[in-house]
Amino acid sequence: MCFGVRDAIALAQQEAAARPLTVLGDLVHNSTVLGELKARGIEFKNDAREVATTTVMITAHGASERKLNAVRERGLRVLEATCPLVHVAHRAVARLVADGFHPVVIGKLDHVEVRGMTEDLAAFDVVLSDDDVQQLRERPRFGVAAQTTQPIERVRYLVSMIRGRFPQAEVRFVDTVCQPTKQRQHAAVELAQQCSVVIVVGGSHSNNTRELVQTCAKYCACVHHIETGADLQPEWFHPEDTIGLTAGTSTPDAVIDAVEQRLRGFKRVAHHLAV
Ligand code: SF4
Repeated sequence: MCFGVRDAIALAQQEAAARPLTVLGDLVHNSTVLGELKARGIEFKNDAREVATTTVMITAHGASERKLNAVRERGLRVLEATCPLVHVAHRAVARLVADGFHPVVIGKLDHVEVRGMTEDLAAFDVVLSDDDVQQLRERPRFGVAAQTTQPIERVRYLVSMIRGRFPQAEVRFVDTVCQPTKQRQHAAVELAQQCSVVIVVGGSHSNNTRELVQTCAKYCACVHHIETGADLQPEWFHPEDTIGLTAGTSTPDAVIDAVEQRLRGFKRVAHHLAV
């Protein structure tokens, strides 16, 4: 689990021990962890209008000033668990705008982190594909940053596409992909290259877990995305397989350990398990 998500969970647990707490949005895209937090009395809402507690926590994904102010205006106390590396991305975009660049964020348009990066801006574009780049309007200066969990190869590719499409424009790129994401993606490539089957553990709604699945699928023909060890199917494995095991940034160690144990328990599983 990356430090941003881990710290946010610790903050939620600490706060919930002292007073009733509602978390706005998904603190972590993992049903096991969410279940544990709910068992401690923490509420989860997507809309500040539904909040019944006086303290509201913003998740590691961060939020725009506009959203934070809207929550405060409801008389709620805001506890920010925004990851410092998300703050870095927010500041990078603000700096690009201040320097006169039209901001382009490489990421998912409807993702909570991207909304937090863009909601305070007067104008912006969000791109994730070649088509999105083709839709961009000509501008003299583009300032490009990325959602922190985007694969760096895709980000570099899209930056070069923007440069190629607008050769007259000045394109400034600020690399805001976070270090835990880069390390995880890099390790996943190395793992997938060595394995005949790769298991990726993480929530079905976790963006970075899905990105890991896509990255592994480029190098390994047989990749399975699971949430817990119960999702493992023995028929996926053969004795000659080398099995790779990796996980998204929001997957707790205990869940990964349980998957590893179940894998090792399958009689048909190969002797080779790379974790
Ligand atoms: S994935 Fe990166 S930016 Fe997001 S919470 Fe983890 S460390 Fe922070």
